Amino acid sequence: MGTILDIKRLAVEFHTNDGVVKALNGVDLKLEEGTTLGLVGETGAGKTTLSKAVMRLTQCPPGKIVSGEILYEGRDLLKLPKEDMQKICGKQISMIFQDPMTALNPVMTVGEQIAEAVRVHERLSRTDAVRRACEMMELVGLPAERLDDYPHQFSGGMKQRVVIAIALSCSPRILIADEPTTALDVTIQAQVLDLIAQLQKKMNTANLLITHDLGVVAQTCQKVAIMYAGGILEYGTVRDVLKHPGHPYTIGLINSIPKIHVRENRLHPISGLMPDPTDLPKGCPFCPRCQYAVERCQRERPQAQVLEGEHTVRCFLAGSRFEEEAAHE
Ligand code: SF4
Repeated sequence: MGTILDIKRLAVEFHTNDGVVKALNGVDLKLEEGTTLGLVGETGAGKTTLSKAVMRLTQCPPGKIVSGEILYEGRDLLKLPKEDMQKICGKQISMIFQDPMTALNPVMTVGEQIAEAVRVHERLSRTDAVRRACEMMELVGLPAERLDDYPHQFSGGMKQRVVIAIALSCSPRILIADEPTTALDVTIQAQVLDLIAQLQKKMNTANLLITHDLGVVAQTCQKVAIMYAGGILEYGTVRDVLKHPGHPYTIGLINSIPKIHVRENRLHPISGLMPDPTDLPKGCPFCPRCQYAVERCQRERPQAQVLEGEHTVRCFLAGSRFEEEAAHE
């Protein structure tokens, strides 16, 4: 399985009145062909900034891509002329945003919106584009007869299906789904995630699924990257990371999920807050919240260490010690 997207040392800043927000601090991440990578982190960790940078949607100013590369099939997306990037976005790399209501145009029928997405990238007649729109509606489980309906005539879950139809209408090679179920009712969330997983297999896309939910990752992803304060703290197969977490933050995230078979009187959140991105710690970004921190953690930033195979962890003390302690919690 080859790497389709290779992000190297990506750094993004936002220049605000309160100072320089260091949103991404040297992110390294690989997405492999035909797989789903879960990108997990708290609000403000940099997940959406990362996905927008891949699509070249970073608003500049105040945002600025300071350094790094985003290699798609060996070409650096950050160096491509705007016209070339427009051909790639939507056609080869597509994105589903959090809120389907803001992603759809309220004054166009859903059929027109799907057909328009197709015609922007493919030279199809109007009739063929409408035919494709019908196929896409059926693919995402909506009746093709509803092609002439407007977004307000659909429920939230159905609207997100339309958004998925638009995103997949040109058979992209990469699909970025940014918290695609956050704006939906809990009962609908699982259906939409199932649909994304089924279509990933059917169309063999490489999916980058952004979420804060480790349960979603366990169900739908093959690889996972744990993001914190603009950096990747842990990366590996879902099995390795969830069964043998090597970073205290990942262990904290796993322990904060209530266990269905254990009677508990209270939840176990990770104490403290993510550091202020305008004033990040000099050393390990997790240091102020880490119960294992040693003196070195305050002054030096840990590099990624390989635990086993593809499983990497950014922690000076990465290894079995945390695992044993986590197992006893
Ligand atoms: Fe904790 Fe130090 Fe590891 Fe950071 S490097 S997670 S502070 S032990």
